[in-house]
Order: sequence, then C-alpha cells, then structure tokens
Amino acid sequence: MSGKTKAARAPSEGLGAAKRLVVKIGSSLLADEAKGAIRHDWIAALAEDVAELRRRGRDVVLVSSGAIAIGGTQLGLAGGAMKLEEKQAAAATGQIRLAHAYQEALERHGITVAQILLTLDDTVERRRYLNARSTIDTLLRLGAVPVINENDTVATNEIRFGDNDRLAARVAAMISADTLVLLSTVDGLYTADPERDPNATLVTEVRDITPEITAMAGDAPPGYTSGGMVTKLEAAKIAQTAGCAMVIVDGRRMRPLSALAAGAPSTWFLPKGEPRSARKHWIAASLKPAGVITVDDGALKALRNGKSLLPSGVTAIEGAFERGDAVSVATTGAEEVARGLSAYSAADARRIMGHKSREIQQLLGYRGRDEMIHRDNLVMLIDGGNEPGS
Ligand code: GLU
Repeated sequence: MSGKTKAARAPSEGLGAAKRLVVKIGSSLLADEAKGAIRHDWIAALAEDVAELRRRGRDVVLVSSGAIAIGGTQLGLAGGAMKLEEKQAAAATGQIRLAHAYQEALERHGITVAQILLTLDDTVERRRYLNARSTIDTLLRLGAVPVINENDTVATNEIRFGDNDRLAARVAAMISADTLVLLSTVDGLYTADPERDPNATLVTEVRDITPEITAMAGDAPPGYTSGGMVTKLEAAKIAQTAGCAMVIVDGRRMRPLSALAAGAPSTWFLPKGEPRSARKHWIAASLKPAGVITVDDGALKALRNGKSLLPSGVTAIEGAFERGDAVSVATTGAEEVARGLSAYSAADARRIMGHKSREIQQLLGYRGRDEMIHRDNLVMLIDGGNEPGS
C-alpha cells in the first residue's frame, strides 16, 4: 500500500541514504527526439551528479538505453517501426556512440567508464551471473563507473529483457545495490493518467504493489515493447524483493540526481528488508527446484520470522533431490512460499520429517545438520516474507 506504514527508509532520507546506486537512463533523455542526436549537454550535467556521488564514496552503476534510437538515426532507419534485425543493427551502431559519450563526459571528472553488455541469461545462469557480478564489483572497487545496456545484437525476442527498466532492476539485485533510480519522463506513478485525468495525483511512496497500484499504471500503450509504467512496476517488484529501494523521477531536467536529492517530486518504492545477499538472490531467481518440501503452519510462521526450516515442521517430501539441491517450500495448500538448498537428500528428508532434530542421528545413523534448510540458504518468495512480525 502507499501510505504511512513503517518504512525501511523514508522518502525524505531519499538519495542521501544510498551507498550503492544503479541509475537507469531512458532513451528519450539521451537522444534528441527529432534528430536522434545525442544530448551531450544533458550527459555532461549527469556526469557532474555522478562525480559528486563518487566523491562522497558512493558506488554508481549506469544502465543506459539509447543505442537503438541513436544508431537508428545513424543508419537512416529512424522514423518507422524497426524490425528486430534492424534494431539489432541500430544498437550495434548506436552503442559505440553512446559509450563514447559517457566516456567523454565522465573523463572530465577523472572517472573511467567501463562498458558491459548483458542478456537475460547472464542474470540467470549461475556461472555467467557470477562472472558479471564479480566484474561489476571489481570495476566499482577500482573506481570505475560501469555503463550497462542489453546486448541487443545477440538478444532475440525469447531471450531478451526488451526493456532496460527490468534489466536495471536485475542488475541492482545482482550487485546488492540499495537504490535503483529510474530517470524517466514523468515525475513518478500517478493515481491515474495525468494527461487524461486532471484529478490525478502523484503517489510519493509505495510499499506493496497491490492490484490497486497496478491499476494506476494502466495498460502498456499499444505498440510499446519497452518502457511505460507497466515495466517500471515490474522493475519495482524485482528491486523490492531484492531489498533495494527504487525511485522514479523525471530526468528531463539538468542534473536530475541533484534535483532528486533536493526533493524533486518522485515515487519511492520501499524495499522489503535489507539487500539480499547475492547468494539468496540467486537462489530465488535462478534455480529450478528439484523437489517440494511441504511444511505445516507452525513451520511457515517460523520461516516468516526469519528462522530456519527444521525437520519437525515438514509434512511431505516430493521429488528426487540430493543434498545441496534447490527445493521449493510449500504450504499444505500447495502454495510455494520459499526456495532453498536442502541439507538432506529426498530419501533422508523423508526419514526425518516430522521428527525433532535431536533424533536425526538415531534415524539416519549420522549426525547431520539440525536444519533441513538453513536460513542462510532460504529465500521467502511471498509478500512480507522473511520480515519479522509480518
Ligand atoms: N537496449 C535498448 C537500447 O539501448 C533500450 C531498451 C529500453 O529502452 O528499455 O536502445
């Protein structure tokens, strides 16, 4: 709900509380709509903001769109709807110019820019995910500013994000960022479309993305494959569950990050808990569970309070999994509520389910862990999960 619930971080604290930020920049901010030319003055002003944050010891990652818009003009493709392969060709051309524009602007502040092109798979497949994360971590440690975009050349429809809102949210989750800023062409989420409804008001704070909030975003405009409020809410969900705050603010003004820090109108989506460890993010987002562990109400309550799963609260085991495999945790009503790595194989788990942990040695003939899934290896999937008292 929007409103006055106890917030992990009040909007008034805003950007000041951010230590590791991901800033997403939309195409329309970067490219002059009529001419498709790069707006160097805007980028130069943004670079001032980034430099200021860096001076204060903040980590900054930019996720920038614009390659297709800029490249399209360059190749004479702009004006009509581009086919996928034309977009890919446009991105290949535009990306060089885009990266160069950032390099030039940030170099003036002595900041090194690094280009990273990702696909959806890179945030899902374990090995690639780990590589991407450690590269970004290393760059940040060395003082560089990564500029990320989707690798449009290889990303076909089935495997592409298609929109940088969600890409930016995935990146934020991947690197355990605490703040995601979406620089947009609107102030934030309105109760209704402000262009059509004069009574529409700006929602300044969203805690949960309820059906009421989703309804405010309306439908994606026809023909749109990316952008719009719908994908921003999708991004917000990813960010929130990763423990990352997200804010939407109008980026058309010069130095939009300073404006945000100074209290420009915006919508903050509050995080659920602290940024998850990268390991937990990976457990939640990337694994195909090899089985299902059903738990009783008492165990469910314990999990919601951030406790580990003990064998005593388990009522059924499905599937054939080994120790260390990913499993789903479900209620007796078959609702998946969590995911985790099982400390026992399915066969052993069946033997110890419903029993006290101290009986494990007797039942299995060896002394295994007290927990069937340790809390460090467990991620709640449903709203309010893992937050004490929810
Ligand atoms: N990757 C696309 C580009 O650079 C942008 C996707 C989006 O705007 O969300 O042009």
